[in-house]
Amino acid sequence: MQTQDKEAASRRLVIIGGGVAGSFLAKSFQFQADVTLIDPKEYFEIPWASMRAMVDPSIAKRSVINHRDYFTNGRLVISSAVNVTETEVMTADGQLIPYDFLVIATGHSESVPESKTQRLNQYEAESQKINSASSILIVGGGPTGVELAGEIAFDFPDKKITMVHSGSRLLDFIGQKASDKTLHWLKSKKVEVKLEQRVNLDSVSDETKTYQTSGGEIISADCHFLCTGTPLGSAWLKGTMLKNNLDTHGRLMVEKNLRVKGQKNIFAIGDITDIPEIKEGFLAQRHALVAAKNLKLLMTGGNESKMATYKPSTAVAAIISLGRRDAVAQLPFGTIIGRLPGWIKSGDLVVGRTRKQMGLQPHVADD
Ligand SMILES: Cc1cc2nc3c(=O)[nH]c(=O)nc-3n(C[C@H](O)[C@H](O)[C@H](O)COP(=O)(O)OP(=O)(O)OC[C@H]3O[C@@H](n4cnc5c(N)ncnc54)[C@H](O)[C@@H]3O)c2cc1C
Repeated sequence: MQTQDKEAASRRLVIIGGGVAGSFLAKSFQFQADVTLIDPKEYFEIPWASMRAMVDPSIAKRSVINHRDYFTNGRLVISSAVNVTETEVMTADGQLIPYDFLVIATGHSESVPESKTQRLNQYEAESQKINSASSILIVGGGPTGVELAGEIAFDFPDKKITMVHSGSRLLDFIGQKASDKTLHWLKSKKVEVKLEQRVNLDSVSDETKTYQTSGGEIISADCHFLCTGTPLGSAWLKGTMLKNNLDTHGRLMVEKNLRVKGQKNIFAIGDITDIPEIKEGFLAQRHALVAAKNLKLLMTGGNESKMATYKPSTAVAAIISLGRRDAVAQLPFGTIIGRLPGWIKSGDLVVGRTRKQMGLQPHVADD
């Protein structure tokens, strides 16, 4: 090992958040520095497989991955970060973790169980709930609601599915054409979609199993799923020295080199950043690669002016799965729906490829 590399290997890198961006960085950087990963759960989960896992829990055995399976050479702290100073991170369980370099990757914060076993049990319970229901209400018509409706409609064509969405169109983060085609697809699968209405969840009656909407409609459903999005994982930063680095949406403002504005040794990557582009996992991984390059440069005493810069993606490109066979794709040249985009995403939901990126067998379920 060269002297500069030896020096880097002794540098303490703390990564907060073990989602798509943070896990990828921890995996790639674990042999280059003294890495600590902080996450409230023992596992990394491939987010775009979670709707399938609710109808078919077997996929979760591959999409819920213990951090220790890919992060073998570093310290793992299972807790949430609650404060950060110029030299340390404080966690909810009272640990103080010193750092030389810090990367914040707390994208979205969802309340999920701590252990993989508990998470798999949760998916089993959700799947049983879906199995035993004849009618299901889905609240929210963003990517989560649409993907869940697609999974249930494809696997259980006889179940009555109702979707209520407060916006005037589904999937409003992509184009109108994609929304229209998705609505048409859902209707063709007999999903009843109600736009510009909200469900009053206080009105739920367990006996009658009815729900009231803001439009005065009554919906009968054996169970419901709330798919209204998860909050950004930046609330904890509001009481820290980085509070002034948050924009009005609660996103961390970063420079082109992905360093948090005004900070020398703190980077941010993934959905938590204010990078002006669509929020996607594959872009979060690209952020991780740029941050890794810059960390390596700084740790080996390189010149700051040589830091790599991240170019935001200008294309609005996204593929939303619609069950196991179809998908709707918003691509730079247009919108397509059906088997072609489905072939890219919906079969395995890119789980095999993501596992490979994490250095794992694509098709083998972990213990
Ligand atoms: C239904 C759905 C489908 C999607 N499909 C695709 C797709 O097909 N392709 C694609 O590229 N993207 C897709 N995305 C988007 C993608 O999932 C996100 O862009 C990606 O997860 C962002 O990664 P991240 O690491 O920034 O954040 P996250 O993956 O949200 O990870 C954040 C991590 O930080 C942790 N955390 C939060 N707060 C704290 C704290 N205080 N201390 C410590 N840890 C903390 C969380 O527990 C979590 O592990 C989809 C998203 C959804 C919801």
